[in-house]
Amino acid sequence: MTLIVQKYGGTSVGSVEHIQGVARKVRGFREKGHDVVVVVSAMSGETNRLIGMANEISQRPVPREMDVLISTGEQVTIALLAMALTEIGCLARSYTGGQVKIHTDSAHTKARIEAIDSENICADLKAGHVVIVAGFQGTDDQNNITTLGRGGSDTTAVALAAALNAEECQIYTDVDGVYTTDPRIVESARRLSKITFEEMLEMASLGSKVLQIRSVEFAGKYNVPLRVLSTFEEGPGTLITTEELESMEQPVISGIAFNRDEAKLTLLGVPDVPGVAAKILAPVGEKNIEVDMIVQNVGADQTTDFTFTVHRNDVDAAHEILEVVASQLGAREVRKDAKICKVSVVGVGMRSHAGVASQMFETLATEGINIQMISTSEIKISVVVDEKYLELAVRALHQTFDLALEDAS
Ligand code: ASP
Ligand code: MG
Repeated sequence: MTLIVQKYGGTSVGSVEHIQGVARKVRGFREKGHDVVVVVSAMSGETNRLIGMANEISQRPVPREMDVLISTGEQVTIALLAMALTEIGCLARSYTGGQVKIHTDSAHTKARIEAIDSENICADLKAGHVVIVAGFQGTDDQNNITTLGRGGSDTTAVALAAALNAEECQIYTDVDGVYTTDPRIVESARRLSKITFEEMLEMASLGSKVLQIRSVEFAGKYNVPLRVLSTFEEGPGTLITTEELESMEQPVISGIAFNRDEAKLTLLGVPDVPGVAAKILAPVGEKNIEVDMIVQNVGADQTTDFTFTVHRNDVDAAHEILEVVASQLGAREVRKDAKICKVSVVGVGMRSHAGVASQMFETLATEGINIQMISTSEIKISVVVDEKYLELAVRALHQTFDLALEDAS
């Protein structure tokens, strides 16, 4: 008997019929002899609906009450799924995060899991029950309800799989795996059968929204084999593991990721003296604005241009800060540009291959796409380009690195 943790996302439990479908799927695993712990999200759209109501009442709802509110969506689906399983002859019991219990810190709306008591779950499994746990929620040491950040049910599932030492954590969703790039942009994008945690982290942080980033970090840290698969179609999905493929099979690039959510800010003509970068970025950090890429270059006239990117939602706040900094530092001008995007090639295979960057840059040059910024890590090269070139860049790179379906022309 092996233990599997399965997580079903919002669309998978989006209606009573879908919940009944999930119940039949789960029963199938029971019939094959597996112990099953199921984590569910709220019905799709429900968490947004709850947040919408809160925002009608208050511009800044009290975080503690926000968590009491938005954790209710998952309480509905665990109960309905338990009923659906019981109805088709499968013993099942549901638990909220607080009942399990899933201990978190007290950072409302973005809490972190600190520990899980698995006693209830283990006893129920032993008694032949399917155990259903509400995703996305826990309680802190004062028994306040907390939530784990949007998409947090993935993290609940991975944390349970780690705590229960499950064979595999399966994330069922409305796509059948992780793709080489977004199939809505490149029709010939291919499902990857395997990808490493590191690559998945890069893909996720670059905008591929299949999994919550924190769940991937968690799975990597505790070495929980994680599989993304479709609720609605049979198939092996994508396995996310620590293992890399045999070097002969390992492609240089595993995927092309992109992100439309960034904006670029530039301070022109900053005096080129020590401490300038810190003076520019400290007030930005103080306002909790995350900075992603940074480029600084030195001109001939003892001044430098300093460019960085932030989330698009933060660009106006960051711009205001820079206006102040610019006058303090005697910089010439502040510019902002929200019409950019970031395109990245990701692959552990690039560790053992030279020339990936130049191949990438040549491809963009051939398409007449100007590169505004570049950043690299061991397994990723990212560029910032004008957002109007996003699709062209992604398609061209997908082709250059030979990621398309074998049978696509
Ligand atoms: N229901 C929560 C959300 O919509 C958590 C989840 O679905 O993973 O973000
Ligand atoms: Mg989700």
